[in-house]
Amino acid sequence: MKSVLIKNIGALLTGDLKNPIRAADSIYIEDGVIQEIGTAIGRRSDIIVDARGITAIPGLVDSHSHPTFGEFTPAQNSTSWINHYMHGGVTALISAGELHVPGLPLPPDPRTALSLAFLTKRCYDNSRPSGVKVHAGTLLLVPGLNEEDFDAIAEVGSRLVKFIFYDYSLLPNGEAERYVVWARARGIKVKIHSGGVSRSGVSQVAGVDIVKRIKPDIVGHITGGPIPMPEEEVDQIARETDAYLEICSSGNSRLVLTLMRAVKSLDAFHRVVIGTDTPGGTGVIPRGMFREVAFLASVVGVPPEIAICMATGNVGIAHGLPLGMLKEGRPADIVLLDKIHGSVASDGVDSLAKGDLPGVSVVMIDGEIKVGGRSQQTPPPERAATITA
Ligand SMILES: [Zn+2]
Repeated sequence: MKSVLIKNIGALLTGDLKNPIRAADSIYIEDGVIQEIGTAIGRRSDIIVDARGITAIPGLVDSHSHPTFGEFTPAQNSTSWINHYMHGGVTALISAGELHVPGLPLPPDPRTALSLAFLTKRCYDNSRPSGVKVHAGTLLLVPGLNEEDFDAIAEVGSRLVKFIFYDYSLLPNGEAERYVVWARARGIKVKIHSGGVSRSGVSQVAGVDIVKRIKPDIVGHITGGPIPMPEEEVDQIARETDAYLEICSSGNSRLVLTLMRAVKSLDAFHRVVIGTDTPGGTGVIPRGMFREVAFLASVVGVPPEIAICMATGNVGIAHGLPLGMLKEGRPADIVLLDKIHGSVASDGVDSLAKGDLPGVSVVMIDGEIKVGGRSQQTPPPERAATITA
């Protein structure tokens, strides 16, 4: 595999909340892995990317997506959506369930749920659309699963299960809590659909009582997907649990302000993760992740380098996956971006702070350049990186 040196980076945002901005201007990559981050690295390489002073960030990791088969999404009867998202800076998608198949809603029985998770996991294992890392095979938890089913999904490599169709009137029998124990024992994370009913029409309503009872790792779209739980319950979950709090593009922006007031007062930026909750009724939104980051940075007042962590490193940590950080030893999933011509911002970072979407110049996944020069889904960045092979 070809080695790559990225030089003349302006700002380098790491995606790591512990150290979100690094004083460095070069990244050296070998075998798809970041070997060195530093200043004026002089190593020989097969490919040189001259960033010409623009910003480097980790590839965005969508915490809540709904892949179905390859690049096709039946939800909007459209194709190539993963390629479009990749041009919007997304290098990894975490599936919140592959349920947007024609015929929704599906009967909530174990055979259907397991079949869907096995099939989609196997399909995406064999096919990485546009090079994007799709973490699919998310099991939708329904009544009647047994512990062997959790062995089986762990064996195929599924890393996430999700409560969405579970009948919470069954809670007194302890089954839902057992599912959480069985998942955790196998290193599988648990997400819950929170708030009101989704497009399926049969997802279960869940607020603070159910979240406290089930104790998921991640509260899916806590600010609505599309309908949030009551405002005071959003605040309560932030203050009274330690779950990860997911903000999605499909939700209610007013409650993002509510949630973030609590998060700021608790100094709990590490618990916030960003996703789009698409494709679905909200559509296909290639720049959805950047829109959410820009909203947090410009309206909510989260420093842009921290808002980027919520769309990258935090998502990786929440899901137990080595994604979303520019760090030695991590996969070279990197986006180079700048402000768009005509924006009053001074650079890509300032662009997010001012609420202007940035223009993407380069997208790299595992050290391979997937977008070079400019993205097809953003206006051109004012300065574009040059690539010499
Ligand atoms: Zn969803």
